[in-house]
Amino acid sequence: MTKNRIFLSPPHMSGKEKEYIDEAFRSNWVAPLGPNVDAFEREISEYVGASDAVAVSSGTAAIHLALSLLEIGPGDKVFCSSLTFIASANPILYLGAEPIFIDSEPETWNMSPIALENALLERAINDDLPKAVIVVNLYGQSAKMNEILSICNRFDVPIIEDAAESLGSLYKGKCSGTFGKFGIFSFNGNKIITTSGGGMLVSDDTEALKKARFLATQARDPALHYQHSTIGFNYRMSNILAGIGRAQLEVLDNRVDRRREIYLRYFEELASIPGINFMPEMEGTISNRWLTALTIDKNEAGISSLDVITALAEENIEARPVWKPLHLQPVFNGYMFYSHKKEESIAEQIYNSGICLPSGSSMTESDIMRVVNRVKGVANVTV
Ligand SMILES: *Cc1c(COP(=O)(O)O)cnc(C)c1O
Repeated sequence: MTKNRIFLSPPHMSGKEKEYIDEAFRSNWVAPLGPNVDAFEREISEYVGASDAVAVSSGTAAIHLALSLLEIGPGDKVFCSSLTFIASANPILYLGAEPIFIDSEPETWNMSPIALENALLERAINDDLPKAVIVVNLYGQSAKMNEILSICNRFDVPIIEDAAESLGSLYKGKCSGTFGKFGIFSFNGNKIITTSGGGMLVSDDTEALKKARFLATQARDPALHYQHSTIGFNYRMSNILAGIGRAQLEVLDNRVDRRREIYLRYFEELASIPGINFMPEMEGTISNRWLTALTIDKNEAGISSLDVITALAEENIEARPVWKPLHLQPVFNGYMFYSHKKEESIAEQIYNSGICLPSGSSMTESDIMRVVNRVKGVANVTV
């Protein structure tokens, strides 16, 4: 008998989504605008404490818009965390600009302020500063925002905070996604809450977000005859999907609590295995623990992260390596990378030993124990 598949992070509906969808159908707001879109934007901006928000078709679209608002184009440089999903950096290439990748540091796994400062100092000497820095909050953990903000402010470079994975997380009491000039969230099917696909751009610059709405609806000039003076996009969120998002946002805090509980269960069961180290949660931050991530030191544990992933796959359980750093991706071959320490990349070390365990908020205790027991089994720990 094959056991039910345990996915890494499947969608988790609350049950109320259908009411919002039905209302959209009843009122015939079946379009990329409507009352759910307006309300979802207001509710997200209120939740995170930003002045305004623009609902779009994906997190990637939100990054593309943020870069466009900063007028990034061919020849411009943009810094980006290396240890992240490719969507963080792809929009840099959409605009013909050049990505430069920044290493992680061990405390948050996110952008190293040391590597960032070195990179900015070097570019400043060459009079070739980046026009933006994309800072990612990996697996829900905030980057060292105070340090990163103060360095970027010194060089007058704006930050785009890629909070696709960190909705509901806090950094020193303030919501993740609200630290940069722009913040972005994703509601892809695997994220902590979902609209099936979607994203949000947030900012305190309401004028910029007005322009984002304009750009996201094909940059239509105010004329009856469809006139266009700039190139826009078709990036707005559907009113039906925004309805799903509204119902999901109502349970976001529960989802965060549950993901943190799941992390804690894994920690209780597995942290004592030699060589296993869980992704830290930096003091002063609360991570939504979107995915429980850990590293396995093969010398100490006697097994590698890949051994564990393979063993879990045999049990119909989906686990994944940590994101492959972007500076190692074939598609970004030839772009620069600044490391945290000389000749030593923290992002590569984390990638080589890292694993993400199933972390969906709908997991049951018995699902968790299925994962735990299999990991203990390969690690030769008596259950
Ligand atoms: C998911 C994700 C994105 C992209 O979001 P989409 O909505 O899938 O386009 C961007 N950055 C990070 C770090 C992500 O995890």
